[in-house]
Amino acid sequence: MSSRFDLGPKPRLGYTASTLSRLAERRDDQSFLAACAADGRANTFAIGGELVVMRKTANGLDPLFRPGEAQALAPIAETVFLGLNGDAGLFGVALDPDTTKALKGRDDLVVTDLRSIAVQGLLAPDHLAPLAEAKALLAWHARHRFCSNCGARTNMVQAGWKRECPSCKVEHFPRTDPVVIMLAIDGDRCLLGRAGRFVTNMWSCLAGFIEPGESIEEAARRETLEEAGIVCGEVRYFRSQPWPFPMSLMIGCHARATTSEITVDRTELEDARWFTREETALMFMGQHPEKISIPPPIAIAHHIIRAWVEEGDGVFA
Ligand SMILES: [Zn+2]
Repeated sequence: MSSRFDLGPKPRLGYTASTLSRLAERRDDQSFLAACAADGRANTFAIGGELVVMRKTANGLDPLFRPGEAQALAPIAETVFLGLNGDAGLFGVALDPDTTKALKGRDDLVVTDLRSIAVQGLLAPDHLAPLAEAKALLAWHARHRFCSNCGARTNMVQAGWKRECPSCKVEHFPRTDPVVIMLAIDGDRCLLGRAGRFVTNMWSCLAGFIEPGESIEEAARRETLEEAGIVCGEVRYFRSQPWPFPMSLMIGCHARATTSEITVDRTELEDARWFTREETALMFMGQHPEKISIPPPIAIAHHIIRAWVEEGDGVFA
């Protein structure tokens, strides 16, 4: 493939490149955790369901609260230790969701969901990865209060990184749900789909949850076949992204299509089409004749599609 497209400096992928040290080995160390929380430099995120609470400051929005300030916002269900940011302990607290909604009325705060924060760039990019850690972990606690083995109420231990069942003694660990998200490629064309929930004119990669007993490659082939009727051969891993809605890991791939006739699964997609590299490049430049756009840089789909636009068959090298 001779044509090359240079789309300029590569944007940062959202929710990645965390600057925290998670210090997993200190999660059982109560005196360390207590000292961390009591230290004047300690901070906490305050999250109520899907909503993140931020303070208005002269320098923009700030999602960090002193532990005492967070307690004053709303009743707290859980406090988890996220790690050290430099020398300062960083925690996350789960606020009561209804009380958090009511905080939207306060003039000194902005209360909104993490997607909006990321897409609209409401916070410095370095906050996004620790916020994803906090939100995914707290969402797991909210949904795993009872033992999946015997039904008894479980207790949070290890500063939020485990729950234990006092009845049957089974240990439960925070889970991450793997999702494969892939761009099928047929020579100089790529396969994009549109789901009904997408914003108008936005097209993206196909995606789906990896099933038990399935490899990443097998899931990428199955999902592409199910959603668009396209058979794929070689699958190449690209990169991954935490996706805390509620607690997924997006695993980005490129897949080589071996058939070209599309059959759209209308229960999953509104439509699916092949687009040439040139046409796809125009989407990045905001010049597509049908005004078709691709997801913003916060999402891994943007980077998967862009890599192919820029490198062509090089994504399989
Ligand atoms: Zn149990």
